[in-house]
Amino acid sequence: MTTYFRPSIDAIAGYVPGEQPKPGTKIIKLNTNENPYPPSPVAIKVLRNLDSEWLRRYPDPYASEFRKATSEALGFPVDWIIVSNGSDELLNLIVRACAELGRNVVYPVPTYVLYRTLTQMQPAQQVEIPYAEDYRLPIEELVAANGAVTFIASPNSPSGHIVPIADLRQLAARLSGVLVVDEAYVDFAEETALPLVKEFDNVIAIRTLSKGYSLAGLRLGFGIANPKLLSGLFKVKDSYNIDAIACLVGAAAMRDQAYKNECTQKVKASRAKLAVDLKQLGFQLWDSQANFLWTQPPQSNAEQIYLALKQRGILVRYFKQPGLEDKLRITVGTDEQNQLLVEALIHLV
Ligand SMILES: *Cc1c(COP(=O)(O)O)cnc(C)c1O
Repeated sequence: MTTYFRPSIDAIAGYVPGEQPKPGTKIIKLNTNENPYPPSPVAIKVLRNLDSEWLRRYPDPYASEFRKATSEALGFPVDWIIVSNGSDELLNLIVRACAELGRNVVYPVPTYVLYRTLTQMQPAQQVEIPYAEDYRLPIEELVAANGAVTFIASPNSPSGHIVPIADLRQLAARLSGVLVVDEAYVDFAEETALPLVKEFDNVIAIRTLSKGYSLAGLRLGFGIANPKLLSGLFKVKDSYNIDAIACLVGAAAMRDQAYKNECTQKVKASRAKLAVDLKQLGFQLWDSQANFLWTQPPQSNAEQIYLALKQRGILVRYFKQPGLEDKLRITVGTDEQNQLLVEALIHLV
């Protein structure tokens, strides 16, 4: 059969994102970890008042306004920050800049499936190291795998667990390649790996406005690392990877830390409440520091429950993958949404 593509592209299935029904669809959407609260009103005002001149011109290739706001919010110099079209783009830039044949990509599993997809697109190999039941970081195995890139999501998806900073520090000290700490869910967590960025040249922390800041549709992520580590990534990125709207709206959202914190506090309180309710229904749960819960239904009939919930207009995430198919990942919604979920589950378990 003739093909137009490189063999590595023909060989991959491609990443399958969670279902995205149209806005306005009457559905309780607890499948892709969006924040249930609206974005910062200050950011929305910036969007509404945007001067069309910003659209006529090319945007700032370095998203300076957003970097400035992020620098002020997090206390890192502007040149320690790189901005990307969602953090997914930054993950892609890292793989493209660092991995090739003989320069492997290493990560513990289960984790974010995109790490695998991005590696498979390269002429590069992934080394997947299974987490044990207790989700302790397999430091020795990760070090032995000697990756050009090592990805650690913390809090991790789908498990929700946080990797202790002491473990990440040990790993960073022993790796010769880049350690990527994917902090997509850090806004719901009690710990961050940002101090390691100052301690180690080879650590980059990656964040997104998609979860904590309720801006998944804007596509804005960023990385924090020393400028030496960022230099290669700046070479690989598209010149205009951040559009003018995302830069300005994102900067406003970043400056409104108080609003973000208020929303994430509400989600954390709802998470605790939902965990209690699910345990009462017999679900097994893992400690989560993210805006979702990793759960195993009492009869382990996760797919059946997923389908039955879907019929009732409630979407949760089911992964049809070895080791994951008896579990459901449930995004924490508002208390009202979570209550409707629990009421539906009463009839299904
Ligand atoms: C959601 C998520 C991302 C991607 O976020 P975007 O900024 O929307 O691209 C990255 N890593 C993990 C682990 C995630 O769950």
